[in-house]
Amino acid sequence: MALMSTALTAPSAAEDFKYNDERFADLQMLRYKVQDFETLTLQQKKLVYYLSEATLSGRDILWDQNGKYNLRIRQMLETVYTQWEGDKSTTDFKELTCYLKRVWFSNGIHHHYGCDKFIPNFSQEFLRKALHEVDTKLLPLAEGQSIDEFCNEIFPVVFDPKVQPKRVNQAVGEDLVLTSACNYYGEGVTQKEAEDFYNAMKDPNNKQPLMWGMNSRLVKENGVLTEKVWRSGGLYGTAIDKVIYWLAKAADVAENPRQESVIRTLIEYYKTGDLKTFDQYTILWVQEQDGDVDFVNGFTESYGDPLGMKASWEGLTNFKNKKATLRTEKMSANAQWFEDHSPVDPRFKKSKCKGISAKVITAAMLGGDLYPATAIGINLPNSNWVRAEHGSKSVTIGNLTEAYSKAAHGNGFMQEFCSDKATLQLIEKYGDLCDDLHTDLHECLGHGSGQLLPGVDPDTLKAYGSTIEETRADLFGLYYMADDKMVELGLTPNPEAYKSQYFTYMLNGLMTQLVRIEPGNDIEEAHMRNRALIANWAMEKGQAEGVVEWVRENDKTYIRINDYKKLRELFGKLLAEIQRIKSEGDYNAAQKIVEQYAVKVNPELHAEILERYKRLNLAPYKGFINPVMTPVVDAAGNITDIIITYDEAYDAQMLRYSRDYGTLPFINE
Ligand code: ZN
Repeated sequence: MALMSTALTAPSAAEDFKYNDERFADLQMLRYKVQDFETLTLQQKKLVYYLSEATLSGRDILWDQNGKYNLRIRQMLETVYTQWEGDKSTTDFKELTCYLKRVWFSNGIHHHYGCDKFIPNFSQEFLRKALHEVDTKLLPLAEGQSIDEFCNEIFPVVFDPKVQPKRVNQAVGEDLVLTSACNYYGEGVTQKEAEDFYNAMKDPNNKQPLMWGMNSRLVKENGVLTEKVWRSGGLYGTAIDKVIYWLAKAADVAENPRQESVIRTLIEYYKTGDLKTFDQYTILWVQEQDGDVDFVNGFTESYGDPLGMKASWEGLTNFKNKKATLRTEKMSANAQWFEDHSPVDPRFKKSKCKGISAKVITAAMLGGDLYPATAIGINLPNSNWVRAEHGSKSVTIGNLTEAYSKAAHGNGFMQEFCSDKATLQLIEKYGDLCDDLHTDLHECLGHGSGQLLPGVDPDTLKAYGSTIEETRADLFGLYYMADDKMVELGLTPNPEAYKSQYFTYMLNGLMTQLVRIEPGNDIEEAHMRNRALIANWAMEKGQAEGVVEWVRENDKTYIRINDYKKLRELFGKLLAEIQRIKSEGDYNAAQKIVEQYAVKVNPELHAEILERYKRLNLAPYKGFINPVMTPVVDAAGNITDIIITYDEAYDAQMLRYSRDYGTLPFINE
């Protein structure tokens, strides 16, 4: 599971490093600093470098997973962008540039967050003409295809709003597989066929079920359903072979034997596609706690599949931030205390909280579904039985969180949406710290807490599963933010600090996260739904008792929290109910609470927020440009150091990745 940044809070001092980079459409590019890289040993630096190459090598896989035309569209656009020799000062060319930057950002033609297809503002005639004027050999034509035939095939996908309108469709009542543009299911496969196919594989008596379907495309061949497995020699094999190449180099410089076997087991899994080997790999990965360097590499999160099974490819290379990790170690060391004192029914609690590890890490390279838009916290693996028996690894990515808050410094956002001076001061003082702590609680304790009742199928909540799970983790964090234990452990400086988090959380869930939604649209993304669910529910219940209220001042809407203690009780009450829904697998209750509180947007309030936000002139979404790692090589060919630089432009980076890590054919059948 991954936690996304709300990225909306302000303060903390600026420094020399340039966190903000270019801005286009609704996007702001940022940079992150790989702090303390120079303190690593040469062997560790090499390990980070090889893992980083593996992180970048799977990029094309995600592009193809996100939609079957994405790789061809990227190549088409990049060719015009770099090779076309016409007038580049025209609006058409500028709009093409903007569109290409958005496509790069989303790893495809659908919005990375909202999943809607975005439509270019240049003309089809312009593009067709430009395609006729560039070197045909560079264009991703299908075999025997003319340029005009190519245009006729691809243009509707790019320009027609009715063709592939959504990457992931979650609208109740529609065939979610047939109506989603993601490339996890082949032509003509229906939702019912896919569900029946995988239900037939499930054995309710198996205590260690495999993650069926997570590493394949389900296709129909001659009317028969079959899986095309993503592995060496299989679908995406050429990309996977490159990943394996770099992983093998990494294994040779591993920090310890166990870390080496983690990497070699992952290679074995990539070679075979065997899900049993995958489980073995994740168990080893959870157990390896001694090395400073670590990574995520593979088919991981299932947010991109409307049925929540198929996993998108992602990569992250990182190393431990030792100072900040002391914070999360305190939480982990007290995991059982938190579990025992949570307000949920004792039947749903773990009697023994095992192996919850938590650390703060420094990201060194982002790839696949974690680039350029990324998570700020990760809790893996996702397999329920592996988590129950072997625990999970929780990380918060310290240098990314820091980049977000530094970049947002002084942007006027909080002042616009919070009119109360005392609350503003509280946020300025404790906002950053409490944001970090809430993330830590969410990742190290929230996801790891609680248990399913015996016999409950972990997939029972289906399309609502991700939202309920994120809600559960957030509520666990919110409930404990206000606990005296946090002060006792020295995590919060005083019993008041948590209020900054309560305020910003409610503000975000009720109001400010809506800046990411187009007028008239529903809330779709699981983390956004979870925040809306909690905030709307707490507002509804809290309003009746005067705990929280809407206020109008100077023709603007604000929220006010009158009783923080009571608000905490409400969070506890909701946590108990959400845990019940999860533990019992109560699909109807999940559907009811999500549909009632987490999906619909009040159009008037939404319009007001968008208007106020627009006047601030800020970008609602942010993503990162990676650093560049360059090996220093001596005369004998040995690497003697790895140099990190931060000056590569966004477009240069994307073009370099397409050139150096273009690991797949444009058409992957
Ligand atoms: Zn989460």
